[in-house]
Amino acid sequence: MIPESHPRYLSLKTREHLATCAKEGIVSLEGLTAHGRGEAFDYLLGEKSSQSALNAEKIAAALLLNATHPVISVNGNTAALAAKSIGELQQVCGAIVEVNLFHRTQERVTLITHLLEKEGVKVISGEVSRYIPLDHDRGLCHHEGIHTADVILVPLEDGDRAEALVRMGKTVIAIDLNPLSRTTKTCTLPIIDEVTRAIPNITRFCSDINRTEIPDIITSYNRAEFIRDALEYIRKRLVDVLD
Ligand code: ATP
Ligand code: MG
Repeated sequence: MIPESHPRYLSLKTREHLATCAKEGIVSLEGLTAHGRGEAFDYLLGEKSSQSALNAEKIAAALLLNATHPVISVNGNTAALAAKSIGELQQVCGAIVEVNLFHRTQERVTLITHLLEKEGVKVISGEVSRYIPLDHDRGLCHHEGIHTADVILVPLEDGDRAEALVRMGKTVIAIDLNPLSRTTKTCTLPIIDEVTRAIPNITRFCSDINRTEIPDIITSYNRAEFIRDALEYIRKRLVDVLD
């Protein structure tokens, strides 16, 4: 039993929840270690959405609303942490939601799909093929899902696939707390923020955005500036600790 008064209550509850999801087969054991790396970067980032991350989230909203065929790619950790908010984002931007896993088994796909559906998400189903040129199972996807997507939101992505998707000509929006990951460095738009904060922020921007602003928003950003902002923010925090 974790007392609510514990200073790390939210973090401990999240770990407990992910451990339960791992026992159920939704989250892989490797996913638990990936969460640990995310937590470390979130500590460095002060565990809140920076102004720079909020700017990226607004651009992400504009890109999703402007897309012809938007897709949200969901893995085990993302489903465990954010199923309900993915449903809310799907409602406002009309994206197709597709389950895409590195440690892929039919059983895990089914478990994750059921979890998402229970929270109101509509999930694409049917045959998958290796449309993404990768020699691991992240390469498997649906023809009418990721294969056809023009804009794709990839929370907690691995670098290989982000790179392959960009090479396929897609606009890749990544959510990853690590400003130095290959995903962050190779995607089209990096959101350096925690997934449970980032997705509701994107949903809010989708609802609030003035549609006439969209063309300007989606043509006037530079990926490098978000990476620089995050690293500079971390540097300042580290220096301030020593003051
Ligand atoms: P690279 O992109 O360099 O190939 P990787 O493939 O090794 O990195 P993964 O092991 O796939 O990265 O881990 C996914 C990433 O997700 C990690 O960089 C981690 O920082 C990030 N991450 C983990 N949990 C969260 C979270 N809750 N919110 C946002 N990002 C997270
Ligand atoms: Mg990787």
